This record gives sequence, structure tokens and C-alpha cells, in this order.
Amino acid sequence: MRKTDFGPMPDENGYFGNYGGQEIPPHLKKAMDDICESYLEIREKKEFWNELEYLYKYYVGRPSPVYHSRRLSEKIGGAQIYLKREDLNHTGAHKINHCLGQALLAKYMGKTKVLAETGAGQHGVALAAACALVGIKCEIHMGTVDIKKEHPNVTKMKILGATVIPVSRGTATLKDAVDSAFEEYLKDPDNFIYAIGSVVGPHPFPMMVRDFQSIVGKEARAQFLEITGKLPDYVMACVGGGSNAMGIFTAFLEDESVHLIGVEPAGLGLHTPDHAATITKGSPGVIHGFKCYLLQDEKGNPLPVYSIASGLDYPGVGPQHSYLKDLKRVEYASVDDNECLDAFITLSRTEGIIPALESAHAVAYAMKLSPSLGKDVNILVNLSGRGDKDADFVAKKLKL
Ligand SMILES: *Cc1c(COP(=O)(O)O)cnc(C)c1O
Repeated sequence: MRKTDFGPMPDENGYFGNYGGQEIPPHLKKAMDDICESYLEIREKKEFWNELEYLYKYYVGRPSPVYHSRRLSEKIGGAQIYLKREDLNHTGAHKINHCLGQALLAKYMGKTKVLAETGAGQHGVALAAACALVGIKCEIHMGTVDIKKEHPNVTKMKILGATVIPVSRGTATLKDAVDSAFEEYLKDPDNFIYAIGSVVGPHPFPMMVRDFQSIVGKEARAQFLEITGKLPDYVMACVGGGSNAMGIFTAFLEDESVHLIGVEPAGLGLHTPDHAATITKGSPGVIHGFKCYLLQDEKGNPLPVYSIASGLDYPGVGPQHSYLKDLKRVEYASVDDNECLDAFITLSRTEGIIPALESAHAVAYAMKLSPSLGKDVNILVNLSGRGDKDADFVAKKLKL
């Protein structure tokens, strides 16, 4: 993996066009600049990428396959649907790709503790595994409401040796966990490091997380060429913060013939307040230290958001997505909870693959578009994770 394999962005201040940057107080800026400097340093080191590539291969199980889902394609009619199987990764999703990168960076910088928040617990579990492997302390802050809801993930984090800090202030969910973890981080930014779970946050995180995820698209592009002899016509991925989408899109940004589509959660419907379709319905604003499209009230405060897939309910979105939307290089669409559930069941029953509810959004959009396309058209979907975590919830919801 070389530097040129990554996207060309951002500029040296961390801007993708008007988005990104460091909207943070001065004392935090120094900590972020230190992280940036160290990252740019190891980004040039062959040993760092060798180590990461070794772990991707022998620990994560990469490359994940590109799989032609023939039965799904036949059932839906129209285009051929292919899946990039990030669900087969160790710990069950794409998140391990950037958690390993950040854990190695923490070790390189001589940090004593990695801090993070988690909502549904997916970032927490992937990070706890990466920290166990690298041999560094891990502390995860999580709202008490989420702790109750996502108990299996809490148990996994503890087994993996992470300290789970319950956060009961405010609504006791993700935003409060972010605040709590950040306060702890600010107690000793020289020795602690914050690990962000998507292509969001202040510079350099959107760039760093994208770089670590870009392995997904790099593999997928080569695999797709090998299987079909050409590039896909469409590449689709779900967008919460946007890391799995940037991971697969980055390799195709220069391929003008490839139509890129980010799929946002329309929740109970775009006409209701209960969705998290940030790019579709939001406007430029500031959240968690960076500029992006944002679902916000008149005062610029983030609105409460909702999706059946808890990994997608974030009122902001990665700055590079915000920029790609304005450039019209990526199209952003949305699917609602019902379409997501339908895709979840359909993929399970035609292919024997249970997708994460997050990933089912991308599958749902492929199913929606496919019938209008010809048989020779190819769609590549990033299947970002597996659905074990969602199985009980869906079974109850659909009274299976
Ligand atoms: C966390 C998660 C997502 C959402 O995160 P992005 O940064 O938007 O990719 C998507 N899919 C799965 C399986 C997840 O765990």
C-alpha cells in the first residue's frame, strides 16, 4: 500500500473543499496536530504498512471475497449484484480495519491508553480486540441506555480486557458517551489517544480512517476486474459516518464510468423527524470538531436522529462525503426501515447471508435500482458487516 493509493484530499489544514478542518479549542489543536504529525510520519514508513498488511491478512482474514450473488440477482431481476464480503472479517465488520490502524498508531506514539465512545458497541468491540492484540489499555465510554440494549457487546468488550465506563448523564446514549470519553481524554492528551469510529471528527481522523479503510476498495477493484474483466457500473455502500463507503469508493473515484452511490437511512420516512439522512436532508454545519452536512435546528444544534440500524444514526457525516456530494461525484440516496428489513430477510433467504441492518440499507438500494437495469449491468455492494448482532431484534420485530 502506497500513499498514492489513498484519496488526494484533504489539504494541509484538513479541508475537503469547505468541509472538515479542526473546529476545536486551541488546547485540543495541539493534541490533534501531534497525532497528525505522527500519522504522516508513519504513513511514509514501509514497516508500518507491512505490519498492518500482515494483520489484515493473517488476523482479519483479508482479502475478503467479492461474491456474485446469483440467486439474489435472479430473484430481483435486472442487474447482477456482487457483494464485497466485509461481513467475513474477524469481529464481523469493516471497523476492524481502522481500529487496527489506530491501535498501531497509538503504540507507535507511546500512548498508554486508547479511549473511545461506542453507541451500539460495534466500534467498542473492534477497538477492544485491536488493543488486546497490540497490547495497549482500552477504555470505552458507553451510555447506560445503550449498555442495557447492547449487552452482548458489553460482555465482549470486558472479555477482551477493555474497561467499560457507564455514562448516565443526559440521555445516556451516544452523544453523552462522546462528551464523557472526551473529558477523560483531555485529562492527559500526552499519554492518552482518542480512537474515532468513522471518517468523522477533527483532522486528521477523517483522512486517517479513510486511509485505513481504503484497502476495501483497493481489493474490490482488482477482484472485480479479475472476475468480470471490467469495472462495476455501480458501487454502493451504506453511510452513517461514512467509513465503509469511503473505504470502497476511494479506489473508484477516478473511474468516471463507475457510478458511486451512498445510501442513507430514511428511518420511518424522510417526511418524519425519525431518520438520519444527513446529506439528503441536512445543511452545512459543525459537529464534534469538524464541518459537514448536518441535521440541525435553527441554532445549529444537532437534531435527534433515528434509524433501525443504530450504526447509522449520526446527525453529521464525513467531510469528504460532504465534498463529494457538492462535486456530484457521489450520489446519495436513502432507504427506509421497511426496505432495509425486506433486504435483510431477502438476502438471508436467497443467499444464506445474514447482513448487518446497516449493510442491508445498501443491499436494499441495489434491490430497488436493479429491476430498471439490464442483465449486463453490474452492481457492487459493500456488505459492511454481518447480522448476528441484529438477529434477535429482527426476529422479534417480524414475529418469526
Ligand atoms: C458502524 C457500522 C456502519 C456505519 O459506519 P460507517 O462509518 O458509515 O461505515 C456500517 N455498517 C456496519 C456493519 C457497522 O458496524
